Amino acid sequence: MLSVADAEHLIFAAVHPLTDSEGVRLPEATGRILATAVRSQLDFPHWDNSAMDGYAVRFEDVAAASGETPVSLQVIENIAAGTPPQHTLKLGQAARIFTGAMVPPGADTIVIQEATRRDGDRVDVLQPPKACGEFVRHRGRFYQAGTPLLNAGIRLQAAEIAVLAAAQCNVVKVIRKPRVAILSTGSELVAPNQPLKPGQIVDSNQYALAAFLHQLDIEALRLGIVPDTPQSLRQTIREALQWGDVVISTGGVSVGDYDYIEGILQDLGGEIQVQSVAIKPGKPLTMARFPKLRSLYFGLPGNPVSALVTAWRFVQPALLKLSGLSHGWHPQFVEATTELALPAAPSRETYIWGQVAIRDGQFHFNCAGGSFSSGNLVNLAQTNACAVIPVGSPGIAAGERLSVLLLQS
Ligand code: AMP
Ligand code: MG
Repeated sequence: MLSVADAEHLIFAAVHPLTDSEGVRLPEATGRILATAVRSQLDFPHWDNSAMDGYAVRFEDVAAASGETPVSLQVIENIAAGTPPQHTLKLGQAARIFTGAMVPPGADTIVIQEATRRDGDRVDVLQPPKACGEFVRHRGRFYQAGTPLLNAGIRLQAAEIAVLAAAQCNVVKVIRKPRVAILSTGSELVAPNQPLKPGQIVDSNQYALAAFLHQLDIEALRLGIVPDTPQSLRQTIREALQWGDVVISTGGVSVGDYDYIEGILQDLGGEIQVQSVAIKPGKPLTMARFPKLRSLYFGLPGNPVSALVTAWRFVQPALLKLSGLSHGWHPQFVEATTELALPAAPSRETYIWGQVAIRDGQFHFNCAGGSFSSGNLVNLAQTNACAVIPVGSPGIAAGERLSVLLLQS
């Protein structure tokens, strides 16, 4: 049995980030991962412009201005944002200017309008600027044309979309979305819209995994319920591996008489890397590589809680790495104070699901109510974190601090 850390190491090592890219129009690029660095041919700002409403001046004219000895300048033009200046400023002259407007040639400093008194076509400067260049946003101060503006491997959210729009990047090269096929194994399973006969249960895992993939913005192929017969499992898994970068199944990976998955994976040329992990819930976790097909297989345990906890702990970071994110794909742990005492399992890293909240700037963890059984999916609802109790810990007392895995919100 592998430790959680060893299993994680093997899983991450087996994941090779996708590199194939596609062009998408900017409005459709939200949430996608940038495939190549973006450069702009424009400096930012594109030209010297004013940071304030006021007057463009020559510093040497106004350096000694004061309330007692104001400097009177001739106002030669009005420069609004969006219209270029018409004149070059000479000694003794000023131009009325507004925020964002181009600084005219000859001017080097902006005097804010609060430091002036207007009198017809003249303006009195009543306070000197602090320095030459005050309130001028110089061309290229924020970014120089040709250098990388955005790096490859970042997720495009509102801020990055703003940068791309400003750089007039109308079509963006993004990494294609990973393709993940999901299937539920178990002859006892029925779809939620089917009547339940004695002994049957609803295939909730398929829905949980589809939602999980949707939240990660990953393309999913739902292959439905596959009964526990070697022929049907083999056929479905073979097709799934051809289509998907990743295949995720639930059930059939324990040591029961109807647990066929591992044998089938080996038959199909899979290299089993992970077979069972010292984690609770989720011990019978399987991961296999298919180097020829360039695909990966995750066989998650059938218990709904085990399936989701192992998906959060191992599959989520693996899929984020696969999707091409250059950083930020590792699982995220924070330190939190537990409100209640938490039990430990003797020789397995224990994950207790519940909710984390920030109060007074600190993380606090509240375990879910009800019975902690991997067969109980009911108290999973509203989970946003799992407390992690290390192997060998006798359990955690109320008020102690411990590591908590943050889940996607
Ligand atoms: P298995 O890992 O196949 O031995 O399944 C373990 C337990 O999880 C059994 O009680 C199954 O009935 C249940 N189970 C398996 N697959 C699913 C599923 N897709 N949805 C809900 N429960 C499942
Ligand atoms: Mg089963």
